[in-house]
Amino acid sequence: MNFNLLKDSFFAILLILFVSCTQKVEKSNLNDSENTDFSSEYNVDFLNIKEGALAILDESYEPYFSKLQLIEIKALINKTPPSSNIEDARNYARDEFSSAVTSFSRKEKKAILFVIPIIKKILQENNLDIIANHPWKFIKIEDWLCGGFAHTRGDYIILSQKHLNHLTSDWNNKISKTDSISLLKNLGSLLVHEQFHSLQRQYPKKFESLYINSWGFEKAKVEIDSTILINQLTNPDAPKAEWVVNYDDTYFWVRTLIQPSDTLPTMGKDFVDVVFALDKVNDQFIIARDSSNEIKKQKLSDFKAYTNSFPVNQGLDHPNEITAYMFSKYFIATVEGKIPFENVSEKSKLFSQEYLNWLNNFF
Ligand SMILES: [Zn+2]
Repeated sequence: MNFNLLKDSFFAILLILFVSCTQKVEKSNLNDSENTDFSSEYNVDFLNIKEGALAILDESYEPYFSKLQLIEIKALINKTPPSSNIEDARNYARDEFSSAVTSFSRKEKKAILFVIPIIKKILQENNLDIIANHPWKFIKIEDWLCGGFAHTRGDYIILSQKHLNHLTSDWNNKISKTDSISLLKNLGSLLVHEQFHSLQRQYPKKFESLYINSWGFEKAKVEIDSTILINQLTNPDAPKAEWVVNYDDTYFWVRTLIQPSDTLPTMGKDFVDVVFALDKVNDQFIIARDSSNEIKKQKLSDFKAYTNSFPVNQGLDHPNEITAYMFSKYFIATVEGKIPFENVSEKSKLFSQEYLNWLNNFF
């Protein structure tokens, strides 16, 4: 990996890239056709409605819909399923996910196709060829699904209308250098975050090496308590809640739950990150309880020994999210011509350095 990009020469390189990339994109056969795979040059695929409606249900890498609980279905589809029978509600959720798929506009495609060749070049400059060459597959959804949050299913990146409106507002045919950099930092950093979730599914062993050997996570099957299960949020980017950590001889499990309420839960606003203490019984993990039979838990924000060891403060409920947020941060630093994780807190320096070493060795 090469961090020796000098700031001045970096912007000169970036400008040349912008010009050459814009020319290439202008030459490509951009159209509004539903069935669009016009950017084979950059390995970018925008799924049409029919393709996306099927692909959004992808469970080839791990189960998702078949694990969903009623409360999270309500949050994800922003309505109450007609039946509270869990299998019926899951099937209803599948139909709703498919029905939310819509098509990309010409401007959205052009903005994404403007950014991707630059992302690719930056990754290549940093010797991250595996990431640079990973194909991009996009599905677009209406805003009501998943609270409009960008997420992934299989190797598909799912972007909502409002996200695209916001992220492509910087783009136009004669984009300035300043707006280009802003676009790269906003849209580009989101795209590499989501692409990381696709890479996690493609290369699970590479990621496990970081989680286990460098960061001390242990893979575990936790016997989930029914009171926790009914309020769980299954992150579509990290559906397997299989990672635990050990601090001072106690195992801990971080989960995102949905706060129960009488109204429809809101994505994001009604989420709460909780850390459960675990007991290990014959290689099985169960939720620990105190002498009054109360579940031993704390807020994630109080679990400082863990949270302070990472240079990000989002996505700390799962290492898939931690690595994706860290890669956004890494990417923004390279766009700005800075050294990634240069000014992180003292306590997160070790894991940051291990992350950089891992990127260098595995990608
Ligand atoms: Zn994510």
